[in-house]
Amino acid sequence: MSEDFTIPEVRPLSAEEFRLLDWLLAHGSAEAANYAAQLARARVVSRCACGCPTLDLALDGKTRPTVGVSLILAEAAGHSPEGVPVNLMLHAREGELSELEVVAVDQTRRFSLPVPERLSIV
Ligand SMILES: [Zn+2]
Repeated sequence: MSEDFTIPEVRPLSAEEFRLLDWLLAHGSAEAANYAAQLARARVVSRCACGCPTLDLALDGKTRPTVGVSLILAEAAGHSPEGVPVNLMLHAREGELSELEVVAVDQTRRFSLPVPERLSIV
């Protein structure tokens, strides 16, 4: 879990975010497929304050992500649109999609969400 502060931002997933999450769930761990149906119920509820594209997610109109022990549904590595090397982890907590964590390997702070074409599952 990130130690950075988060900023509340409750909104539907963008088309780009939906496509990335759908791809991670389709190519992630064996458990990931069990979470694919949650994607249509998920929205963004907060984002990281540091400038990175890490997002907190929640289902069914809730405004806070689930907490507790993380189950990692997918891990990927690749590059952001700016060419920043990134690692992604999709977390579930309490049985619900909870967080899309995106970390710059070189500690760059401000970069955009990667697209599946520039990622590989690790
Ligand atoms: Zn951040």
